[in-house]
Amino acid sequence: MINVHGVGPTDRVLAPGEDRTWVSVAQFEQMLDLAVQREHVRITFDDGNASDLEIALPRLLERGLTAEFFVLAGLLGEPGRLDADGVRELAKAGMPIGSHGWAHRDWRRIDDVQAQEEFTEAHRVIGEIVGEPVTTVAIPFGSYDRRVLRRLRQTGVNRVLTSDGGTARTSAWLQPRNSLRHDMDAVWLTSVIDGRPAFQQRARSFAARAVKRLRGGPPMIRVNSAVPSPHETDSDHEGVSEKSAR
Ligand SMILES: [Zn+2]
Repeated sequence: MINVHGVGPTDRVLAPGEDRTWVSVAQFEQMLDLAVQREHVRITFDDGNASDLEIALPRLLERGLTAEFFVLAGLLGEPGRLDADGVRELAKAGMPIGSHGWAHRDWRRIDDVQAQEEFTEAHRVIGEIVGEPVTTVAIPFGSYDRRVLRRLRQTGVNRVLTSDGGTARTSAWLQPRNSLRHDMDAVWLTSVIDGRPAFQQRARSFAARAVKRLRGGPPMIRVNSAVPSPHETDSDHEGVSEKSAR
């Protein structure tokens, strides 16, 4: 599961470190174009940024993709954020809407009054906007502990999304996500999406084979010694290249 925060330029003042999660339109489109060929990829958006509607929605629809949007009930209509109409527009376009809480607080550090806002009030507001109860929640900052999970169980939501990274089981109550970062590239993206060696490494492997053909000898370096391959199930270029290099 891929999680997006903000895309493209924004007129909102970003919180410290928030710029690290902000990606360019080109990076975003690169991710969508990879996702469109892979049915197992799920996409989510956190924080209810205006770019959800202005940049993301048209590009999702263009590619026939659906994504879930997790909005901040207490910040709707703030500069650079979605307002209630924007959330409604996303929902009308077939995008499921979930809660990211009220005011983007760290849920491990809230008191009972704030918890009331984050879970009860937020769900009421979002539920009224989209016309159905909130069933899914994305945790701000991916920050949770046992107490947070207990509170979430009491709200009765079906799914809780974290930012723990890794592969998610679609039926699980607690599901990890991989957040896009401003410095991500095709290698990172492909290895997250496919859970196996990425384009650039394959390209290097091709290049090494080409060099070998030209020189008529073995390549000077082993091309795939640094390739992490957690889920390698098929024999791909690296394997072939390494064998033929010996
Ligand atoms: Zn967030």
